Amino acid sequence: MDTSTANSFIAKRWADDLTPQLVDYIAIPALSPAFDPDWEASGHLQAAVDHIAGWLRSRPVVGVRRIEIRTLPGRTPLILVEVDPFGPDQSTESTVLLYGHLDKQPEMIGWRDDLGPWKPVIENGRLYGRGGADDGYAAYASLTAIEAVQQSNGSHARCVLLIEASEESGSPDLPAHISALADELGEVDLVLCLDSGCVDYETLWLTTSLRGLAGGKLRVQVVTEGIHSGAASGVVPSSFRIVRQLLDRIEDAATGRVLLDSAWTDIPEHRVAEAEALANELGRGSMEPFAIVPGLELMSSDPADALLARTWRPALSITGADGLPPTGSSGNVLRPETVVKLSMRLPPTVDPAVAQAELTRVLTDDPPSGALVSFDDPEAAAGWNAPDLAPWLASSLQVASQRAFAKPMQLFGEGGSIPFMGMLGDLFPDAQFVITGVLGPESNAHGPNEFLHLAYAEKLTNCLATVLDAHATVPR
Ligand SMILES: [Zn+2]
Repeated sequence: MDTSTANSFIAKRWADDLTPQLVDYIAIPALSPAFDPDWEASGHLQAAVDHIAGWLRSRPVVGVRRIEIRTLPGRTPLILVEVDPFGPDQSTESTVLLYGHLDKQPEMIGWRDDLGPWKPVIENGRLYGRGGADDGYAAYASLTAIEAVQQSNGSHARCVLLIEASEESGSPDLPAHISALADELGEVDLVLCLDSGCVDYETLWLTTSLRGLAGGKLRVQVVTEGIHSGAASGVVPSSFRIVRQLLDRIEDAATGRVLLDSAWTDIPEHRVAEAEALANELGRGSMEPFAIVPGLELMSSDPADALLARTWRPALSITGADGLPPTGSSGNVLRPETVVKLSMRLPPTVDPAVAQAELTRVLTDDPPSGALVSFDDPEAAAGWNAPDLAPWLASSLQVASQRAFAKPMQLFGEGGSIPFMGMLGDLFPDAQFVITGVLGPESNAHGPNEFLHLAYAEKLTNCLATVLDAHATVPR
């Protein structure tokens, strides 16, 4: 592959086409189905599918066998692209699976006054707006990498690109699509996934693990209608206090330590060493990428321990609540119920079904004061721990990183989840994985002011092209 041809092709494509495409894509409020249960009627997911599929079809890629929008009753659609092998002596045996998603997180509050989730704004090389970085750019970057290989006399194996539309809901629709695809996936021996993060924008960061997830909606009811708190408080137990009691069963309120046995695992030694090496290099910088308030004490004062805490240990977040009026309109009332949404990150190798079962049992057994307690809408997703890098891949990633960034590749664990990686690891136990992404400092996926770092996305596209070509040409 002629690297400089590939690089200039990719740079021009990002400037001329990919960035304007993403501007249009950001304007589509394509919420993941968990946040838009009427997604079929609202049509936004379909609009995003049509937008991306239309662009994919417009590209003059050699050997495109099909570009399909796969549908299943009641499920979000899936975009499937299949490209024949390209270049001399390419066997049809091996397949590269490229993965991304087009569904988005909800708006969230706290956007800068002049920004907004559905308002694309380019400022200082950052494209602001929901879903550009997580994960709309993946489809564009993936196909552009394939195209760049072809344009620069490189080679690539058979490529299958999957863009799903339920990732931010825990990928509930993906297993059905994957079993409907069955043999069509072929022998996947390399997975390229652009839905992860980076520690800085200076080099290629490879994700070595992802956390899993357990959670659901905890509901505590005490009365059937609100009552004057002057009459009922002190007699009827508060639903909020009972929620506190229940949360104390699963989390130490003083330390934040998760109290479920099934949510813990022994951290592999090489992952501990990896975190220590990264902490040594980054120092306290590794702990301070967050917009914390002055004086806030973090949960750990040791950088390596903090890295392990957010990648290999469980942690609980309360991500939403019902039954609580806004403070501006709340009277002195003993409320009938409190509902909190729990999101518990799990270590990469913990079985999410087992953790979810323990979570449900501990929360609902023997309700305090005999209150009506339920735990519904379970959300369990598997984490993922990378297999060892094959020598050919390790060396080609180093080459890719040096070419794009003039720096060596770095390894790190990611604290988020990509449920499909766990599924793929089970389906293709011998496959190699390149999981990387643009979610770096301040990019704030899921929060306000999400942005795509355009220069970094372009360099990652370069890296992808290098790895595609190496996969097809490097002897192993
Ligand atoms: Zn994502």
